[in-house]
Amino acid sequence: MSVTTRFAPSPTGWLHLGHAYAALFAEEQARREEGRFLIRLEDIDGTRSRPEYETALFEDLEWLGLSWEQPVRRQSEHESDYRQALTQLDSLGLLYPCFCTRREIQEEIARAGQAPHGPDGPLYPGTCRNRNLSECADLIASGQPYALRLNVEKAIHLVNKTLTWEDASRGVQEAQPAIFGDVVLARKDTPASYHLAVVVDDALQGITLVTRGEDLFEATHLHRLLQELLKLPVPRWHHHSLITDDAGKRLAKRDDARSLRSLRDSGWTSDDVRAALARSA
Ligand code: GLU
Repeated sequence: MSVTTRFAPSPTGWLHLGHAYAALFAEEQARREEGRFLIRLEDIDGTRSRPEYETALFEDLEWLGLSWEQPVRRQSEHESDYRQALTQLDSLGLLYPCFCTRREIQEEIARAGQAPHGPDGPLYPGTCRNRNLSECADLIASGQPYALRLNVEKAIHLVNKTLTWEDASRGVQEAQPAIFGDVVLARKDTPASYHLAVVVDDALQGITLVTRGEDLFEATHLHRLLQELLKLPVPRWHHHSLITDDAGKRLAKRDDARSLRSLRDSGWTSDDVRAALARSA
């Protein structure tokens, strides 16, 4: 089977050297095996995505010398795919509405005096998990905004087997999906969370090798569970190291100085970018 990879940026800022590394990495994995290289715009967060970042992102990738298949998948155009996945999980009885605000969650955790921690911080304390149906219906009818959370223990129980994945950087891994707790799969303001959208999209785009930064390694524990519940094909993963600045700090979109456009404006060529990446990788 030939390999299909993707680069999945969010148009929420200028691309920097770290993105260049991720994009070139994904493209190289595909090219090496004469496979396919796709781009996906992770623009589901309408409050942070901007058209000017999207235009700039394509310009930057072209400047780097990349080419990719058309059409590009835009998450914002596929909300029905995420809704369908949510319906599927709901019909398994694995979702519940959560009306908590961030502040209420923090207060609840403070009251409890301690909370187990996951990769993204303290786990959700489960406040809304056992609300009865009529109470939920009343709150929804009264217009209370709510997110949808996965009842992760119930999901693990339903799957009832050890899940693994093959990681090109670390070998075969055993998934520990409970590390994120009852994760949000649809946010109050967006129809899907990153975790849900990414597994649905990777499956629909036929991605066979997910390449992405090590910062998303932990997310794969949960993605394996979602794939199993949604009966999606299982790709392989290659979590690569992250490009850091001279002080060893991970690059962020807000560090404008390292954006590809500012490097280009200051006279860098795309070969300079490639050379700099080869040095720091
Ligand atoms: N959109 C994510 C990011 O910009 C990448 C998601 C992924 O590769 O799974 O970090």
